[in-house]
Amino acid sequence: MLQMLIIGGGIHGVHLAHRLLHDTWLTHDDIRILDPHEELLHEWRRCTRNCGMQYLRSPAVHHIDIDPFSLDKYAALAENRQDANFIPPKDRPSVELFDRHCQMVLDDHRLKFLHLKGRALKIQKRIGHVSVVTAEETIHARFVLFALGMGGQPLWPHWADHLSEQGVMVNHVFDPGFWLKDIQADGPVAVIGAGISGGQLALHLIEKGFESVLLVSSKAIQVSDFDFDPGWLGPKYLDRFHRQSNDQRRQQIMAARAKGSVPRDIKLALDKATALNQLTCIVDDIIDAKCQNGGALLIGRHGRYDCQKIVLATGFTENRPGNGFISQAIKEFDLKTAACGFPVIEPTLQWHERIFVTGPLSELQIGPSARNIAGARHSGRRITAAFSKESIP
Ligand SMILES: Cc1cc2nc3c(=O)[nH]c(=O)nc-3n(C[C@H](O)[C@H](O)[C@H](O)COP(=O)(O)OP(=O)(O)OC[C@H]3O[C@@H](n4cnc5c(N)ncnc54)[C@H](O)[C@@H]3O)c2cc1C
Repeated sequence: MLQMLIIGGGIHGVHLAHRLLHDTWLTHDDIRILDPHEELLHEWRRCTRNCGMQYLRSPAVHHIDIDPFSLDKYAALAENRQDANFIPPKDRPSVELFDRHCQMVLDDHRLKFLHLKGRALKIQKRIGHVSVVTAEETIHARFVLFALGMGGQPLWPHWADHLSEQGVMVNHVFDPGFWLKDIQADGPVAVIGAGISGGQLALHLIEKGFESVLLVSSKAIQVSDFDFDPGWLGPKYLDRFHRQSNDQRRQQIMAARAKGSVPRDIKLALDKATALNQLTCIVDDIIDAKCQNGGALLIGRHGRYDCQKIVLATGFTENRPGNGFISQAIKEFDLKTAACGFPVIEPTLQWHERIFVTGPLSELQIGPSARNIAGARHSGRRITAAFSKESIP
């Protein structure tokens, strides 16, 4: 029987597998990563590619390897040394470098051999272990780790749903199965949402040859270099956070995440594109839309805007990830949730003696960084500490 089944093969699942192999007595025979895609890290690669992301928002010490300076050391190798590897502040790596470094970690530590292709549909409580059911098989493991990410739930405004039903081309940049490369550069395109994904996407569409790009956001574009204040990575803010109730923690997480903001370099690039008439930035709240001449008329509180196609960059819903699978797990194991619906977990990130969580599901312990790469590293340290021989026989 497996010791640990990790459900989800994204940044979190892969880093956790690597860390468990590195820091604990678990071996390659003891761990598997269950993920429905052909390859591990599929969602990361698809989402960053769809946004045309050039540089990460996080600094060079946030990556999937163990040594915080692993990415710096990799970039310094003669074959990897390039001018465009990092940009300030705090040496943000290029996506290209980051992805090659991920591949190096996967190859060097034989992590791809841990991958089982499939989706967890159901989890069952057994004596001394759990069973996870997929469409193909039932997998038995002493412990499971939920590393599901937010990927399954892009946020669609209600007007966009109606428009799509009427045949207008509307896509969400994070829709499973959507690839930006499939969109043809003809007619005006509206990007809805001017956070980092929308900002980068608008610049990418201009690069792809779109002559008329509208970037629509409900508030003026905000600048913030990081997703959250770096004080959230250590005791500066976390000590107080851990003394608060789950409701207060949720409020702090919402307030701390710089949602709908862009780093300075993206803001400068957007300003430049606007000055060159390649981009029109509109601050308006779209409340309705109509199908018109095969395209759309967007109706805002302050005006109306024509476009041929729409790409939503409106982020993810705030709901607990995992949908039916997590709801079933809650029933089966009688798991505790806070008013926001997210897991109430131990400092070890255990939701049950047999279930660990990371990513958004660990937010009420890890705080606003939980969804990020830094959050994966933080979870990794907590889970491996709990998984030492002493505490988990
Ligand atoms: C465009 C973009 C840019 C980002 N840039 C940064 C950045 O610069 N720095 C940073 O720190 N963070 C960044 N983030 C945030 C975060 O680091 C990424 O979203 C990261 O990919 C999250 O990893 P994850 O493993 O939690 O989720 P995912 O990458 O979504 O992986 C989860 C996996 O679990 C699988 N899964 C879900 N349900 C099941 C199931 N029932 N059974 C089996 N498998 C399942 C999914 O199919 C998926 O493959 C960015 C996010 C986005 C979208």
